Amino acid sequence: MKNKILGIIGGGQLGRMTALAAAKYGIECHVFDPDHDAPAFQVCSKSFINDYKDLKAIEEFSSGVDAVLYEFENIPLSSAKHIEKFSLLRPSSFILSVSQDRLVEKKFLCEKAKVKTAKFYECSSYENLESSFNEIKGLSVLKTRRFGYDGKGQIKLDDHANLKKVWESIGSDELILEEFVPFKRELSIIIARDYSGKVKLYDIVENKHKNHILDQTIAPAPNISNDSKNKAKSIAIKIATELGLVGLLAIELFELNDGELLVNEIAPRPHNSGHWTMDGCVTDQFEQAVRATMGIELGSTEILYNVIMQNLIGKDIFLVDKYINDPHCRVHNYGKKEVRSGRKMGHINHIKI
Ligand code: AMP
Repeated sequence: MKNKILGIIGGGQLGRMTALAAAKYGIECHVFDPDHDAPAFQVCSKSFINDYKDLKAIEEFSSGVDAVLYEFENIPLSSAKHIEKFSLLRPSSFILSVSQDRLVEKKFLCEKAKVKTAKFYECSSYENLESSFNEIKGLSVLKTRRFGYDGKGQIKLDDHANLKKVWESIGSDELILEEFVPFKRELSIIIARDYSGKVKLYDIVENKHKNHILDQTIAPAPNISNDSKNKAKSIAIKIATELGLVGLLAIELFELNDGELLVNEIAPRPHNSGHWTMDGCVTDQFEQAVRATMGIELGSTEILYNVIMQNLIGKDIFLVDKYINDPHCRVHNYGKKEVRSGRKMGHINHIKI
């Protein structure tokens, strides 16, 4: 009997944990990443060490697998479309294209999915920036439309900002200016949708950041009203349905003081705020992504334990020895060879038994 094969674009920790989850179902993984040291290469059956723009390598990779998912959004759209000629790409290249550009994404969210976001303005010239800045009349956040993550590619502006200086320093004319949201806290929700349109939702969680990087996820989010829970679920279902999602989608939300929820951004892949599910749920987010992509019926998202997920950033990874025998802790080490400050090296799920 031949094993099914899943292709994974990107060999970082998300790709690695997806490959480990696939192995539980007897599914082999082929991983594509230009970096020799990508941590997912340690746990897959075939490695493609090639540039993401190398269409010949992309063709060979996608012809040899049953379906493909990606673990990050910054792969060239032309490569994603090329994969679709030879295999199933889940989520699709259309969904990838929406998530790659903050302007396209925000327009999609407001106009198609009809969910609420912060007020935003397209800024493709200095004049655009000046007029939208004057319209917002207060705190705002200037963001590059593409390639931003963990707070990179964005600047917070107050009323006295020196716009000329900001414009020159950001070095891009593909920007959006957003109204600064005075949120109470940051939440997220993850939804899986299969090819027949059936969905499974994970509990809504609270996320705490340090230096713009996710530090902790508290699952489920404490003191959350039923109304907010229902709102988050309905937002997730609207977005997933409108996108025609097959796969997994994470939705980052701002909770306001009056309980209103605004969508910050979406990510069509397993998400750091879903790592708690590895030890907290019947089916974790990686297993669910594998199921949705490979056409296996979605699993239960029921909670087994409340969890606090603690990211191990940089040298924090050396803490694993301290926690490895703690019965309330589940240690996950991504096997990265080089410890760098700000680099996600692993995480610990503190489970409440
Ligand atoms: P992003 O890359 O868009 O996810 O933004 C990174 C972080 O910056 C978010 O998690 C928020 O903490 C903060 N942030 C982004 N956009 C806004 C906004 N419009 N208002 C307030 N905070 C924001």
